[in-house]
Amino acid sequence: MKTSIIGYPRIGSQRELKFASEKYFKGEITAAELQETAKKLRTENLKVHKESGLDYIPSNDFSFYDVMLDTSVLLNAVPHRYADLGLSELDTYFAMARGYQGEKGDVKALAMKKWFNTNYHYMVPEIEDDWQPSLGSQKPFELFSEAKDGGVKTKPVIIGAFTFLKLARFTGSKSAADFADKTADVYAEILAKLSALGAEWVQLDEPYLVRDLSAEDKELFALLYTKILANKNVKVLLQTYFGDVRDCYSEIAALPFDGVGLDFIEGKETLNLVEKNGFPKDKILFAGVVNGKNIWRNHYAKTVDILQKIAPVCGEIVLNTSCSLLHVPYTLENETKLSEDVKKHFAFAAEKLGELGKLKKIMSWENPRNAHEYAVNTALMNEVRSGEDKSVQEKVKALSDKDFTRLPEFSEREKIQHECFKLPILPTTTIGSFPQTAEVRKTRAVFKKNEITEEEYDKFMRDKIAECVKLQEKIGLDVLVHGEFERNDMVEYFGECLNGFLFTEKAWVQSYGTRCVKPPIVWGDVSRAKPMTVKWSKFAQSLTENPMKGMLTGPVTILNWSFPREDITLRESAFQIGLAIREEVLDLDANGISIIQVDEAALREKLPLRKSDWHSEYLNWAIPAFRLVHSGVKPETQIHTHMCYSEFSDIIKDIDDMDADVITFEASRSDLTILDVLKANNFRTEVGPGVYDIHSPRVPSKDEIKTALRKMLEKIPAEKLWVNPDCGLKTRGVAETVPSLENLVKAAKELRSENK
Ligand code: GLN
Ligand code: ZN
Repeated sequence: MKTSIIGYPRIGSQRELKFASEKYFKGEITAAELQETAKKLRTENLKVHKESGLDYIPSNDFSFYDVMLDTSVLLNAVPHRYADLGLSELDTYFAMARGYQGEKGDVKALAMKKWFNTNYHYMVPEIEDDWQPSLGSQKPFELFSEAKDGGVKTKPVIIGAFTFLKLARFTGSKSAADFADKTADVYAEILAKLSALGAEWVQLDEPYLVRDLSAEDKELFALLYTKILANKNVKVLLQTYFGDVRDCYSEIAALPFDGVGLDFIEGKETLNLVEKNGFPKDKILFAGVVNGKNIWRNHYAKTVDILQKIAPVCGEIVLNTSCSLLHVPYTLENETKLSEDVKKHFAFAAEKLGELGKLKKIMSWENPRNAHEYAVNTALMNEVRSGEDKSVQEKVKALSDKDFTRLPEFSEREKIQHECFKLPILPTTTIGSFPQTAEVRKTRAVFKKNEITEEEYDKFMRDKIAECVKLQEKIGLDVLVHGEFERNDMVEYFGECLNGFLFTEKAWVQSYGTRCVKPPIVWGDVSRAKPMTVKWSKFAQSLTENPMKGMLTGPVTILNWSFPREDITLRESAFQIGLAIREEVLDLDANGISIIQVDEAALREKLPLRKSDWHSEYLNWAIPAFRLVHSGVKPETQIHTHMCYSEFSDIIKDIDDMDADVITFEASRSDLTILDVLKANNFRTEVGPGVYDIHSPRVPSKDEIKTALRKMLEKIPAEKLWVNPDCGLKTRGVAETVPSLENLVKAAKELRSENK
């Protein structure tokens, strides 16, 4: 069996591309210097791939920002507002990615969205009615030739026409079908050009095929590929990932692809589909058996099992990853602090190349289970890992309905709480964090390096909190926060206070453009190691008569932004984390913190790609995990939650089922249709749709905020409406934050008198 990968990380193992790009944006290096860094990184990747013995080595998986954006430029889908700036090709590209403000004009960036169920974001293609699909950039050809000149014959990788059109936003009156013919022509031209340059294989990525497909979708797919493949003289690999292709298995089989990539890790129906329907013998099956999204070692026994099951019904099989390795960090070699005992359980991108090589070797045995590598792996998998905590497991097992049910029920609590807090109508608050100045970041950093004592650090934080409380009182906010100055990040901060989490030094994963994240690893059973926030919240509350919100991150968000375990279910992990956060909630409750906010910024993000799986695979544990966190508090304690988006119309009942007392969310940039949905569903949780956008330094005027609130009051009863910005203020400066909040308070006060 040969080996292949779908794509590789490109930001650089030391984030070289990030730093070079940021320097270029600031005008500190030239375009040529940036190109040079990029070329070096590509050459480095090719070398690693070649040395690992990989058979199908990808090219064009490199990108300066995002491969969807690359595809827009490749197909000449550059909206006029960017093309008209008259910038160089590279700068036009970056203008689309990041917006442009300068002597040539002032344009916003393309929209950015989450890439399927990952934490990677793509730039949404924007298609205007007069788009003429045609060959734009030369990147796939140049990168193929670059690799070839370096002695490596690669398999160019391009986002396929179907996924491109399905994810595009059509700004005029036309739709995907109107452009299908011409788009197919351009893809055919690309194949011809690559073939002329000497390519043997081209990989077209079509992850959209793992979603629920309508009849029109299938028609579009068939139409595109009938045309694209009609006169090809290069082998074409149709690559799918992030799930199974149950809606179009027979359509794929019927088209003249030379290879088809299927995901055996996230595609829970894939094995079944292949076993039941067989697989066309004239096509090579690229079997995605090595997880491209998580960092655990492959379990060879399971992989061999899959391969032995499909072998009898398939022709040639190639060992593949389940998706691009873009979603895992570069290499374990950069981790100097993790012990060997821990590291031997992990495989980052480079180590996954090694696994493919080993699997290839194993599969060359007549009985793969006799291979030496197989035995070594089996022994590793059978090892009892450290980090087991029986008491936590018992606690999760013992959970029953009452642990997920808060009493008294919502409407009764709402009355009690209104009585207790005596807040004015349209109460004002913020989402939690206040501007984090360089001084705050620096103090955290030097404390971490033990360069200042705990007393010095505490004193600094207390001063910051006191200053923040005073500021909020002066502005006239009703429900205050301590400011979150002690937190680097809303997951890492909590992970560090929990048993069961591991942290890496260099395990960066690209999130969007030059932004990378370093997800913690859930290693063992999770429990609270120590109180996490009580000290700060208690101190902050002691400074004021106003209610002070305790601030926590919820279990679903902590789990979704970490690398999860594979030896237990996500449900079990979420409940373990939920129990740990619950302890903190109860501690805050016992210490006189009467409002507790549990942020679930990432709840929506991991909703399964198929609607039919939403409840059975996800919401059936995610919503209970949240309820577990707060079900034990006093009736008069108010539970808030916050979400960073307003696209939850389709799961509105589930959001209400979280049974929080108040939910704040981003609404200032959306079209406010969410308000209709709230009304139509009789949403009972009190709501604080953000009244201004904190992602921009702009100061909203009082009147603008009043207008926004008036619109909200048309749909939401005044007794249920809160007034707040749309997210935390930590990325903002003090200069714009103070006047913005002052205007927010003034607007609320004026509307109160109108609504009396
Ligand atoms: N409480 C957090 C903050 O204000 C929420 C952050 C978020 O929603 N991303 O920073
Ligand atoms: Zn937010």
